[in-house]
Amino acid sequence: MRSRGTPGAVTPLPLAAPSLRREHVDPRRWTDWRWQLQNMLRSAEDFAPFAVLSRQEKAGLAASPGLFRVGATPYYADLIDPVNPACPIRMQSIPSVRELDFTIDELGDPLGEDSHRPVPSVVHKYPDRALFLVVDRCAIYCRHCNRRRLVGGDDPPTASDIDQGIDYIARTRRIRDVLLSGGDPLLLSNGKLADILARLRAIDHVEIIRIGTRLPVVCPMRIDAELCRVLQSHHPLYINTHFNHPKEITDEARRACTMLVDHGIPMGNQTVLLRGVNSSVRCLRALMRELLKMRVKPYYLFQGDTVLGTDHLRTPVDAAIALMDGLRGWMSGMAIPHLVIDAPGGGGKIPIGPDYVVARDDNHVTVRTYRGQLVRYPEPRQRDCSVPYDAVYFADQADDDDREGSAEIEL
Ligand code: SF4
Repeated sequence: MRSRGTPGAVTPLPLAAPSLRREHVDPRRWTDWRWQLQNMLRSAEDFAPFAVLSRQEKAGLAASPGLFRVGATPYYADLIDPVNPACPIRMQSIPSVRELDFTIDELGDPLGEDSHRPVPSVVHKYPDRALFLVVDRCAIYCRHCNRRRLVGGDDPPTASDIDQGIDYIARTRRIRDVLLSGGDPLLLSNGKLADILARLRAIDHVEIIRIGTRLPVVCPMRIDAELCRVLQSHHPLYINTHFNHPKEITDEARRACTMLVDHGIPMGNQTVLLRGVNSSVRCLRALMRELLKMRVKPYYLFQGDTVLGTDHLRTPVDAAIALMDGLRGWMSGMAIPHLVIDAPGGGGKIPIGPDYVVARDDNHVTVRTYRGQLVRYPEPRQRDCSVPYDAVYFADQADDDDREGSAEIEL
């Protein structure tokens, strides 16, 4: 059977509607993920039917060509509050003129990825994990993206880049975990995705594969039975998605996540803490609860990276820590993400958060409860924590440090 919206489809579709708003589009087009991508909104003219643009947004859109990529699917844009510029969907998809106001600390490559690329398609910063950049396009160009220097579809990875990436991963035995990223890997065709997954699965030392994708958020119609079958046949496979606000959790997004989880794919969520978008306790609590309800585990809450043109979206560290104080203890531990700073320059993720240990002596630690009470916790009398049975259980295995490179010192 031919897919919907492809040339020569069995039932002819009506002529294009006068605007790209959901109410004007034939549902068969609307639910076709390729149609959503072909009709991404990129200019003030495109966004005009979805929002009464503010002066700052108009200036941001006018200045964007040649500076930072702009784009959002009609599906995502249709969630915009047309009259309120503080709408979280709007702030993530429509640029503000404030993006032109760079600070001295902002960088094109804030996480030092380009200096950790042994081959063009692989970023290898941590001992046992590697990022595999398999595509350079997205279904939204997020205003806070830390890879905005790379994404946009101008310089897609070639077949040779993919081959070199597979080859690097195959000859680097300490890589246990490969994270497909980009761009958005689920924008690849099912055939291309299946080919990459099968080649990774054929590498003995690759234990798990993860996919980072924003499509459940911005183009949930991409998640269908055929895609799920491709993913399901390459387990163990995990998906990390990127919801930033409860407004993004629509019926369609829920359906997409439920379908993935029902195919045995564990899902995690990485939220970027964005000032004025989701930087309130109320908003974060609602987001984390809604994620858990659709079986997506809150994983990371990122301090904004120091990427060019995003200073206005970053939250002060003290405010971020105070927000975590409003989550931990007040809701299920399952709902609590790790708050991290991804170190500028490439040092990796560093957990930060409220300090719950307030004092120590030789025999006690004084800790603070989430309600602020102080409690003395007695230390045990015995302090030796070595595990004698390790020598038996791991007798035939190489030392972890050899395999994972833990003993390496980064110069
Ligand atoms: S989807 Fe991810 S990679 Fe693409 S623009 Fe957004 S944050 Fe960047």
